Amino acid sequence: MREITHFIDGVPVAGTSGRHGEVFNPNTGEVQARVALATPAELDAAVQAALRAQPAWAAVNPQRRARVMFEFKRLVEARMQELAELLSSEHGKVVADSKGDIQRGLEVIEFACGIPHALKGEYTEGAGPGIDVYSMRQPLGVAAGITPFNFPGMIPMWMFGIAIAVGNTFILKPSEKDPTLPVRLAELFMEAGAALGMDLKGVLNVVHGDKVSVDAILTHPDIAAVSFVGSSDIASYVYSTGTAHGKRVQAMGGAKNHGIILPDADLDQAVKDIIGAAYGSAGERCMALPVVVPVGAKTAQAVREKVLAEMETLKVGISSDTSAQYGPVVTAAHRQRVADYIQMGVDEGAELVADGRGFSLQGYEQGFFIGPTLFDQVKPTMRTYQEEIFGPVLQIVRAETFEEAVELPSRHQYGNGVAIFTRNGRAAREFAASVNVGMVGINVPIPVPVAYHTFGGWKRSAFGDANQHGMEGVKFYTKVKTVTARWPEGASEDSAFVIPTMR
Ligand code: NAD
Repeated sequence: MREITHFIDGVPVAGTSGRHGEVFNPNTGEVQARVALATPAELDAAVQAALRAQPAWAAVNPQRRARVMFEFKRLVEARMQELAELLSSEHGKVVADSKGDIQRGLEVIEFACGIPHALKGEYTEGAGPGIDVYSMRQPLGVAAGITPFNFPGMIPMWMFGIAIAVGNTFILKPSEKDPTLPVRLAELFMEAGAALGMDLKGVLNVVHGDKVSVDAILTHPDIAAVSFVGSSDIASYVYSTGTAHGKRVQAMGGAKNHGIILPDADLDQAVKDIIGAAYGSAGERCMALPVVVPVGAKTAQAVREKVLAEMETLKVGISSDTSAQYGPVVTAAHRQRVADYIQMGVDEGAELVADGRGFSLQGYEQGFFIGPTLFDQVKPTMRTYQEEIFGPVLQIVRAETFEEAVELPSRHQYGNGVAIFTRNGRAAREFAASVNVGMVGINVPIPVPVAYHTFGGWKRSAFGDANQHGMEGVKFYTKVKTVTARWPEGASEDSAFVIPTMR
């Protein structure tokens, strides 16, 4: 059985805890590897390596740090096919989608290539007589990232790309469900340094684990900041525990994104967009669109018919099948969870229009597949509406009016993303201004902002006040120091007992 090791101080390190997680091949249902789950002592070894490396790394000038990012990007791009296949083999998403996962992470690395510019401070000449004021952004020290299974390429790069570029060293605790790609990324990062004649051991470490290693991160006195992405209850726990231990914490949580379709929308296009956003990656995306809200009975009927017609054309296959639109979900437990939600929807009285539970792929009967599922007549009082399903399940919630449609995502416990489909600019503008959700798409089904903007939801989709990547990321991983300086000459001045003011 393949053993997936930690990566500490530039080298693979076998686990010593005796505890392991199973990593499946979701296409076949077989266990393909074991991943070591760390003890607090193993986490501490990574922290010590990161602490040793940090002063020298922070002293590397920002242009040279950026060159490491350029080289890392080049190495990842050169191995894109191999890395995407590796990602797919543990996650189950199709290879083309895995390339997108890695590419969206690389776009944050591209942003980090511009770190010398992003790190420049502010300067005021002559803030008072002979007084200049300037500010600088300095790294925090050692930062840590805890990431979910659904984007094992993108989300680690969101975090370590910025954290390291600004001069921190980093510990990544990836999901134990698909942990191999993050280790490969750390190895390539070392290679990027070596290509430039730099030894980067300790700058990026990977420690695998579960709650034990997460708790060790949250309570470790030498970790200054923690970035988390995962489900909301755990995000809330990470935020409260990490901040109680004096850390800077950003913690992104779950989602239930709505796609609102106004009667004047291009319905064919809107439905195609929603099908891709609902079923792509088997619905295992925090920016998936699992709820569609057609406004008016006529729109609802047309949307339902068009969705059903599009569903007929969907192909579910193994992750390496280039003609498949989506593959299996990540584990048998997750498939069961989705199936339980489908049953709950039936029990709650929603209309099950298409049931994916019976789906089976010939030759892969033990794979974790679920066919595309559609519910109509879903009501806001239902648990299956209120909670995140995270599978290939689309729910139609009918609204009579625009106002009612805006209320649905605005009142929902989650507020990650939302989309509106319309040809009416005024309605779209009003929607974007008033909806109580962090990321809005206007005729864009998955409004994940580009890397130089920032990513973050509202309500129970994010805890803390800093978004991921872009300038918000730079702020999260740095602290500002502001210097007020003067160079007096001549006679000395008397002591001042009044708070100094600018005269
Ligand atoms: P998860 O919450 O189960 O796991 C996330 C991380 O927390 C993993 O590294 C895991 O090992 C760790 N963890 C698991 N149980 C823990 C516990 N009891 N205590 C401490 N740490 C624990 O999430 P997942 O299933 O890997 O990912 C899917 C979830 O992530 C969905 O809810 C999805 O919406 C969310 N997500 C959110 C965003 C976003 O940016 N808002 C992005 C991607 C995924």
